[in-house]
Amino acid sequence: MQLEQTQTTSNETVLSIDSLHVEYSTPGSNVRAVRDVSLDVARGETHGIAGESGSGKSTLALAILQYLGDNGSITSGTVQFNGTDLQELSESELRSLRGNDIAHVAQDAKSSLNPSLSVGEQVAETIQAHQDVSRSEAHQQAIEMLREVDIPDPEYNADQYPHELSGGQQQRVLIAMALSCSPELLILDEPTTGLDVTTQSKIVELIQDLKDEYETTIVLITHNLEIIAQITDRVSIMYAGELMEQGDVYSIFDDPSNPYTQGLLAATPEIGSDKAPTAIPGQIPDLTDLDDGCTFADRCAFATEECRTGSIAMETVADDHETRCRRWEAAVEDPIQPKRGTYDRASAGGELLSATGLRKIFDEPSTVGTLFEDTSFERFFDLEPPVKAVNDVDITVRESETVGLVGESGSGKSTLGRTLLSLLEPTEGTVTFRGDDVGEFDSSEMREFYSECQIVFQNPHSSLNPRKTIGQIIERPLRMFTDADAEARTNRVVELLEQVDLGPEYVRRYPHELSGGEKQRVAIARAFAPNPSFIVLDEPVSALDVSVQANILDLLSDLRAEYGTTYLLISHDLSVISAICDRIMIMYLGEIVESGRRDDIFEPPYHPYTRALLSSIPNLDPHKESSPILLEGDVPSMRNTPNGCSFHTRCPQKIGSVCEESCPEVEPTGEGESSEHGIACHLDEDEMSTAIEGLHNDADG
Ligand code: SF4
Ligand code: SF4
Repeated sequence: MQLEQTQTTSNETVLSIDSLHVEYSTPGSNVRAVRDVSLDVARGETHGIAGESGSGKSTLALAILQYLGDNGSITSGTVQFNGTDLQELSESELRSLRGNDIAHVAQDAKSSLNPSLSVGEQVAETIQAHQDVSRSEAHQQAIEMLREVDIPDPEYNADQYPHELSGGQQQRVLIAMALSCSPELLILDEPTTGLDVTTQSKIVELIQDLKDEYETTIVLITHNLEIIAQITDRVSIMYAGELMEQGDVYSIFDDPSNPYTQGLLAATPEIGSDKAPTAIPGQIPDLTDLDDGCTFADRCAFATEECRTGSIAMETVADDHETRCRRWEAAVEDPIQPKRGTYDRASAGGELLSATGLRKIFDEPSTVGTLFEDTSFERFFDLEPPVKAVNDVDITVRESETVGLVGESGSGKSTLGRTLLSLLEPTEGTVTFRGDDVGEFDSSEMREFYSECQIVFQNPHSSLNPRKTIGQIIERPLRMFTDADAEARTNRVVELLEQVDLGPEYVRRYPHELSGGEKQRVAIARAFAPNPSFIVLDEPVSALDVSVQANILDLLSDLRAEYGTTYLLISHDLSVISAICDRIMIMYLGEIVESGRRDDIFEPPYHPYTRALLSSIPNLDPHKESSPILLEGDVPSMRNTPNGCSFHTRCPQKIGSVCEESCPEVEPTGEGESSEHGIACHLDEDEMSTAIEGLHNDADG
């Protein structure tokens, strides 16, 4: 089924927010989290609310529910639901409203579910809280709701605990709980954040199907503009607590009239395009200390003195299209455009690092286990099979190139990155660096290796020691891997901070004083400290907002151009990979199933798994419908990898028993033996060569 705007909206307003202001009181100051927000949502409408972290999206959702916590309050304005002012309701009336009429699916499914109750009990509890039904009736209804949201085996899964389900299944359980009382309004707060693209497309499909079936009105909060483009009818763009632009989805994406909306669109990477995601400079202002004038003025390319006085009102651009900007006509006349193809792609040199037949297996069974093949013996002693995280991988990385490594969670990407750097010991196979076997290095050669090979981790919040200053954090690798004296180290720290666009004043700061983007800059400065020639970037931008993400990709590109550094960029996001990589490898269940130059991967022939990944990426253009290939089930456990082709349990193009019995070798495509494009699949090239409908590329604009 195709994703499409269903256009089932009516003129009847379900939710009406008027001039809403929300504040949180904190010691010594008030955070003005939502200011002057007005919006109406019609029955049957899917209304998207987008914006960066700190824009007030989630606070707005909590204000709708009148659920702001002890330190939050609506200071002025109204929220009406079906004409009733919700601030007039008693606490018991609000309790009845929440769940019965308005349901809310909070961010982060994992922490929203009770870890000590089975998911069936949790859904049944919600049903009993709002309906007068017996425990067994509620349990039966819970199983039906789990079936409705496509939980694969509802009778069995109902008895499971949240940790036994995948992230996508946990999200489905939360949606089942929200829908169990047939609410009129469903508020979904970042329902796909943290999910792989294939799971994301299934959740988006589920939301569409449920909307059609239950005719629910939906408020969808997400930072993901592609999802907004694909499934919403109307859109509100928020920034620093204010609504910056609002209108029907086509107006917002075709003719964005606010410089902030234009900036967000320019910062969003697009698959296979020559667009270089372009950052919005600066940061969201401090919401406890706001100046007069436009909150976006310090970051806005169109700002003039007139923007810095008074309060900026919403202005009408067209029917059902408003913007909060004094200079919107200038912004429409000459909109902010992303850079095109400006990331310098270095020409690759000779081989720098390579791995042959690399395997990493965790939890190998004890010797006694391996002596007995009888599975009943293994069961008796509870000997679980080992985890094959990296399975027979060959890889070559050349000097000055950026190689992208893509796959879903659990594909073994991070384990491969760490094994290449000897942070994990390979179970089998060899890694060579500049032609020398890393496994044979003595301790001084290992020290030399680590001065040349560094890693940047995914989460800048946890990868920096909170007790050390930024100066100490960046200095550490200089102490460990270089012979620089104290003065040289101090000078180098300041130089590195400058290179990542942070001033010398950061030397004495602690990580908690920095924003997420600044922390990731520090992590990058630390990795560059010993002048490495190779850096593994493990999901370096996945925890960051789209604008900060563009900023970090820019920085990595600049540093690569300056130093000729080689990167292995690990990401679950093909759009990010597409923006910066020269070559790409697709990984599934510990194996590389396709590899090639960047353009090889985005054009046919495609491995069936690559095809599914690419088709699952929603399009930023609301006129272009996505047709995601929905893969059955989740990635199998690495303890029980399928025989034959590891993808055969989910492959929509599976041929038959050959796929179950015989593991396909990587074969070169097209140009024959000299081709850099290789695919591991039993299909003929013709069968892998159908174009993907709706996939953006330069040819189709
Ligand atoms: S009012 Fe001025 S600063 Fe604000 S978005 Fe418009 S042009 Fe930019
Ligand atoms: S070998 Fe068979 S199961 Fe594997 S990807 Fe190809 S067609 Fe699908």
